[in-house]
Amino acid sequence: MATVAENLERIQERMNAACSRAGRDPAAVRLVAVTKTVPTDRIREGVEAGLTLLGENYIQEARRKIEALEDLAVSWHFIGHLQSNKARVAAEYCDWVHTVDRLRLAVELDRQARKRNRVIPVLLQVNVGDEQSRSGVSPDDLPKLFEAVAALSGLSVRGLMTLPPYFENAQEVRPFFRLLRELLERLRGIAPRPGELTELSMGMSNDFEVAVEEGATLVRIGTALFGGRPAISP
Ligand SMILES: *Cc1c(COP(=O)(O)O)cnc(C)c1O
Repeated sequence: MATVAENLERIQERMNAACSRAGRDPAAVRLVAVTKTVPTDRIREGVEAGLTLLGENYIQEARRKIEALEDLAVSWHFIGHLQSNKARVAAEYCDWVHTVDRLRLAVELDRQARKRNRVIPVLLQVNVGDEQSRSGVSPDDLPKLFEAVAALSGLSVRGLMTLPPYFENAQEVRPFFRLLRELLERLRGIAPRPGELTELSMGMSNDFEVAVEEGATLVRIGTALFGGRPAISP
């Protein structure tokens, strides 16, 4: 198995190449290393190799790892579906939440953030493919959700996130990444503080180069960094 450092180097080269094709500054794209199912010693290896942003998508697993790795200077991004009754755990342990997709969750996360004197940076998750099986607000309902969440003082909306439909051929995902970027541009037009609305969390192991070409600022990469995951997640 390749080391995490070797995989990271290869991914950075591919991200840099995608940036130069798109005329983008590589410093504007950050890598969120998705550590779900990855054991803590391999996460440490990744952090020694230079990872600084880590992403988890099961809240109990996130909590366990954040506690076990609290000596590391990293930020933890929550990227999974979040039930409102788990907002307390997210507010206590996670630095960012990428998956705010409904007002009820936002209200609960805001309440938990204010209790802790925190302002949590969040992204609104959009269901760009209008797939029934996916979480996310529909593009049509996004402006209304944005306006409601932007009014909550415990949350700071920084941008949008998506999990687009899956295609073997990453080029076929391009229109969905482009749509997310266009939706962000439209929101900037109605945002009270448009300068804060800059992040596009999109792109995973099989399609991150296309996502970077389309404007991703946070790419979420798991298997290309750490190797394959067991078929069944905990
Ligand atoms: C697992 C996961 C990823 C990473 O997927 P890979 O294909 O392993 O890179 C990214 N985003 C979310 C929301 C995930 O759950």
